[in-house]
Amino acid sequence: MSVAEPLERVVIKVGSAVVAPGGRLDVVAITRLVDDLAGLRHQGSQVVLVSSGAVACGFRALGADALPTSIRPKQAAAAVGQPALMRAYSERLAMHAITPAQVLLTADDFAHRERFLNARHTLETLLISGALPIVNENDSVVFDEMKLGDNDRLSALVATSCDADMLILLSVAPGLLDRDSGTVIPHVRSIAEARRHVDSAASSGVGTGGMATKLDAAQIAVTHGIPAHLTQGPTDARPNPIAQVIAGVDQGTRFEPDTSLNVRARKSWIGFAAAARGVLIVDDGAAKAISRKGASLLPGGIARVEGSFEAGAAVDIVDRGGTRIARGLVSYAAEEIERIKGRHSESITEILGYTYADEVVHRNDMQVMKDANAQVD
Ligand code: GLU
Repeated sequence: MSVAEPLERVVIKVGSAVVAPGGRLDVVAITRLVDDLAGLRHQGSQVVLVSSGAVACGFRALGADALPTSIRPKQAAAAVGQPALMRAYSERLAMHAITPAQVLLTADDFAHRERFLNARHTLETLLISGALPIVNENDSVVFDEMKLGDNDRLSALVATSCDADMLILLSVAPGLLDRDSGTVIPHVRSIAEARRHVDSAASSGVGTGGMATKLDAAQIAVTHGIPAHLTQGPTDARPNPIAQVIAGVDQGTRFEPDTSLNVRARKSWIGFAAAARGVLIVDDGAAKAISRKGASLLPGGIARVEGSFEAGAAVDIVDRGGTRIARGLVSYAAEEIERIKGRHSESITEILGYTYADEVVHRNDMQVMKDANAQVD
């Protein structure tokens, strides 16, 4: 086995079907997983674990014999299962003298810049202090429509928010299977191409995601320069998949990072995680300047404002034809933009009595869409 350089920061995602198959905590799998995580830590890497399994570990204790599908029983099951899951990890991590830290996130934590920064700082502080953050979605309090839903995408958002060097997705599948030959595809360079091998509805039974959400996660990661690796969780024959991935000898699927893009974590959040709170319809000149030159959006280029939002909110920037050309964070609230739209930046103070910025959306706060044909609903 070749010994590779230790990676600085690794995010590992483990699915419900690995840690709680059939709705029962798999103690052997968790022990192996923790041993494998500890090995990575002892090589000097900082590790974040994103673990599913709260709902799967909890529903039986509440008297159900099948995984709940509606929101209330799911929330209740997660409230029971999450501490059970944490207990299992804590007991085994203690044997390696590693302190676990529970971090429960919601989609909103990624949708609001302040909360995003807060979550990011928390993770950063935990990692620097030597703790091992164990992340899950805060299932027992989030409403269905506010949910990220699957931990695959959550893990990718966590990886981008803490600037990870690699995202490893541990699943019951050995990797991405070739639709025709049924064999694992070892390398993926184009996620769009990889999608043709995937049936979007298939899932593992106890988890929420399937191969489609794993590709979504890989796409978020690689777009931000983070390689992703999809492989099977620990088994008798292969108890240490993480060590194998790091050593470069794993048989799963490697998603190569898109080095041409390398956008920063800030832009990743804006483009992928932030929920748009409104729409700014811009004139042709502004649309061209944004999509071709990556220019900032000035008040003069704004034709119409839709929605009610505060300064700092994420909005979609749309051309007159309804095509979304960018998403960005506004320096002004909707009602302020309503008053300064179509006007020169120099007259902002005259109109509002103050100026926060010359730009309504600064280029550094903007993610220009690559696919300029994406229509807005
Ligand atoms: N957050 C859910 C849980 O812990 C799992 C979501 C998923 O399966 O991706 O039960």
